[in-house]
Amino acid sequence: MTAIGIDLGTTNSCAAVWRGGRVDVLKDAEGYPVTPSVVSVRENGETIVGRRAARELEINPLHCYRAVKRLIGRRFTDPQVKLTQETSAFEIQPAENGEAWIQGRDQLLSPSHISAMVLARVKASAELALGKKIDKAVITVPAFFNDAQRKATLAAGEIAGLRVLRIINEPTAAAMALELDRESPQIVAVYDLGGGTFDLSILRVDAEGEIDVLCSNGDTFLGGEDFDRALVDHVAEAFIAEHGVDPRGDVLARARLKLAAEEAKCELSEAEQTRILLPKPFMVIGVEREPVALDAPLTRATLEQLTAPLIARTIEICALALEDAGLSVGEIDRVVLVGGQTRMPAVQAAVKSFFGRATMLAPDPDQIVARGAAVMAAALTGQLAVELSDVTPFALGVQSARDEMINLIPAQHKIPARKTVAFTTVVPDQDAVTVRLRQGGSEDPRDNLALGRFDLDGVRPGRDGRVIIDVTADIDADGVMTASARDRGSGRVQNLTVETMGLSPRAIERLAKQLRTRAREAAEETPRL
Ligand code: ADP
Ligand code: MG
Repeated sequence: MTAIGIDLGTTNSCAAVWRGGRVDVLKDAEGYPVTPSVVSVRENGETIVGRRAARELEINPLHCYRAVKRLIGRRFTDPQVKLTQETSAFEIQPAENGEAWIQGRDQLLSPSHISAMVLARVKASAELALGKKIDKAVITVPAFFNDAQRKATLAAGEIAGLRVLRIINEPTAAAMALELDRESPQIVAVYDLGGGTFDLSILRVDAEGEIDVLCSNGDTFLGGEDFDRALVDHVAEAFIAEHGVDPRGDVLARARLKLAAEEAKCELSEAEQTRILLPKPFMVIGVEREPVALDAPLTRATLEQLTAPLIARTIEICALALEDAGLSVGEIDRVVLVGGQTRMPAVQAAVKSFFGRATMLAPDPDQIVARGAAVMAAALTGQLAVELSDVTPFALGVQSARDEMINLIPAQHKIPARKTVAFTTVVPDQDAVTVRLRQGGSEDPRDNLALGRFDLDGVRPGRDGRVIIDVTADIDADGVMTASARDRGSGRVQNLTVETMGLSPRAIERLAKQLRTRAREAAEETPRL
């Protein structure tokens, strides 16, 4: 059976395969290279994924789920969940485990579950294109995804019936797919601005094609969606000034406005001006229920002004990444732009002005990540030799009794990584200890992601009354963490109580079965002409 590479994007997903000595992007069932990451559940329970689902955003706004990658692996209390709710027509609810889930028609749906429906669709299309079954895949994630987000993506793959050979970082994948002139080693910066996330990775690519990631930085809540939102807010305010009603308060009007704003944004990458026109009845307002239209002229200059802070934030991250890598801009040989939002001229101009050199728009900025994933899939199934070394963008540490972070594995450390550190207790003759592991760069542990804890009881103090605990943490090649703790006095080893939420293996199995049954039923349905 075949292994493919899948870019599971916020906006679009894409699959590619290595065959006949090259990478081919696989067209989806409708003939397009990318599939919108959208799931629509109709009133009768019928589930539609991809382009047809995207067309239902306006008619089925409450049960058309899009951009769920912005929610994956997040707690409901995460401030970014609230921001997502403000721009989404579907309803986000707290799940029993504290995660942000989506209100479906008859059940709460985890973002992993919805992502699995997208993956299953991509898998089925790829099987159609290749004429054979696929059971293995390399799936990409933003470099700046944390442990919870990576685990939730792995779960999505499993639910979709895929063995996930490896999770790789999107900018790293892009670099793997680049046809670089590899005469001499090059330092490459990959600037990846998609619909939901921003990543900046700096890599060394050497003559033999060996890829060494020097550092990654990013923001998992900065992308085209935020550009759209800036535009929606701008247009909504003008509408309020004219009609005294906020169109964002109406689910359908908001969904239509968001789509029109995104379209206008894309048009302004080519044209200097456009207009957002939503004909009557865009809304029905006032006591007289008067139907009104929305008509807002827009110029590229206005769009640039509205989104300047977002672009500035990406440039700040570029500066941080260079600092982490200990490099000056002059040492970067090449800058590669990936992700649909980099088609905006102001984004290209800002990157060029920061790096002071010509930038290169990746040949297919929305397919190159999937291409790289296919190269990795070929490497992992022994068809190709690739040397890759990546890094973890986050520090991994232990929360001390004084509420400080004690580093186990620093940020930008190479993965896979394993580290053991000995800790001692502060209070003499303690017989129980809790050790908390957290991921993140903040000095205040509470700002960092709680990964898990060890509750050790019956620990045995040494002769001086102190307990010594050896904590070992591993970050594997997927960027996923596991850990254990051992009390030196008793020799007892304790495994981690995982605090990142996620789905249990049983839940994953149940959902996988549900998806398989649904696929079988769909296949048995009489084809409609
Ligand atoms: P993802 O990785 O999130 O799936 P993509 O790389 O496909 O996303 O990028 C999607 C984003 O790029 C969307 O926000 C979309 O509006 C934006 N985009 C696509 N084409 C253009 C364009 N011509 N100009 C500006 N933005 C664009
Ligand atoms: Mg992307």
